Amino acid sequence: EFYLRQIEDNRHLNAYVEIFDQEARDRAALLDQQREEGTPLQPLHGVIIGIKDVLCYEGHYVSAASNMLHDFRAPYSATCIQRLTDAGAIIIGRLNCDEFAMGSSNEHSAFGPVLNALDNDRVPGGSSGGSAVAVQANLCMVSLGSDTGGSVRQPADFCGIVGLKPSYGRISRYGLIAYASSFDQVGIFSRNLADAAKLLEIMAGADNFDSTSATTPVPAYSSAAETTGGPKKFAYFKEAVEHPALDPEIRAALLEYFGKLRQAGHQVDAVDFPLLDYIVPTYYVLTTAEASSNLSRYDGVRYGHQSTAPAESLAEFYAHNRSEGFGREVKRRIMLGSFVLSAGYYDAYFTKAQQVRKQLFDRTQLIFNDFDAILSPTAPSPAFRFGEKSQDPVAMYLEDIYTVFANLTGIPAVSLPFFWHSNGMPFGLQVMTNRFEELSLFQIAEAMT
Ligand code: GLN
Repeated sequence: EFYLRQIEDNRHLNAYVEIFDQEARDRAALLDQQREEGTPLQPLHGVIIGIKDVLCYEGHYVSAASNMLHDFRAPYSATCIQRLTDAGAIIIGRLNCDEFAMGSSNEHSAFGPVLNALDNDRVPGGSSGGSAVAVQANLCMVSLGSDTGGSVRQPADFCGIVGLKPSYGRISRYGLIAYASSFDQVGIFSRNLADAAKLLEIMAGADNFDSTSATTPVPAYSSAAETTGGPKKFAYFKEAVEHPALDPEIRAALLEYFGKLRQAGHQVDAVDFPLLDYIVPTYYVLTTAEASSNLSRYDGVRYGHQSTAPAESLAEFYAHNRSEGFGREVKRRIMLGSFVLSAGYYDAYFTKAQQVRKQLFDRTQLIFNDFDAILSPTAPSPAFRFGEKSQDPVAMYLEDIYTVFANLTGIPAVSLPFFWHSNGMPFGLQVMTNRFEELSLFQIAEAMT
């Protein structure tokens, strides 16, 4: 009842696109009854969770914030959602986001923008803006998002909360609406690390429905807080901290913080990373290519919006359905992706980008031979104002400069809400460890907070 009231009182933030109020009440009553009857409590007994509108929850609408899927109901639950409800959680509603998770500001949603609760003139970040604001404004205890290039960490950074993207393959993608399949990962928003660790522990692990889910055993992440770590070796990319797009206050805060870590006995070294300028173009070539393929299923026949405009041919019918169903940003990406995959340009763009991705991966492995973690800003600026970047896609894409690295290389990353900007907005520090080293990520992050 508390969270339903909170949601009602904060309607103007536009965080939820649908609330499962009656169902949540019924489930809470059932859980109460079980507790009274002495049934042993499950690990997430009564935990109130909001889910991004890209995750399937059986029998419920799921739209990816797109007109294309305005009347689509999920025929099954995503594995991560199933694991949460099996552990006693209550799913309270679905959360607003950028259409098909494409965006960095939540300005590309068919449901309209989400407002940052700390300053309603500013964006919450994207694409999981609703999931971030739901935790920020106490509209649920924890929430789920998806992170293809930063969509959990960047909004967490803009809203002053914790945002975790696990390793690629750590959480099953079954039931997550695909954007770019070799990048997509389910992520967690929370107010503290312990909650994120608990949720990850329950959702992670192999799944027969997703062949890319990892069989690597799932350790007890939630026990991370109890282990004390000694001095750590941190790396940061010289080019990242010196980048001209980085807000000077963020740079200063980070360098000062590195000094504090050194004083506390840790090693913090700058390493050269000349590939930095290639990572945003590489990310946008590969993800638009994958998106153009993934989104071809929305033809209005198998899935999606069906136009009533008269069509002379099947191709015209598809064109009407897709023209009416998709928003501008999604269309831009389908066109970009089709272009980089086209016969004449495939080698110049797609193959090249794959080669860069391989180099990034190799270089990252070398860094982790010598260091425990990589530190970086989460975003180049704190939350910006509505409209500030929406007319300039390249400026918007540059927002992702610090986050896409972890998705290109498949490593886990967390944004920790550490700092405040003089404009009154929070910003975070991003910590990354090697693949499947979430336990050490939690231990390191815990020791830092
Ligand atoms: N902002 C990035 C993009 O638009 C990341 C999106 C995401 O992680 N889903 O692609």
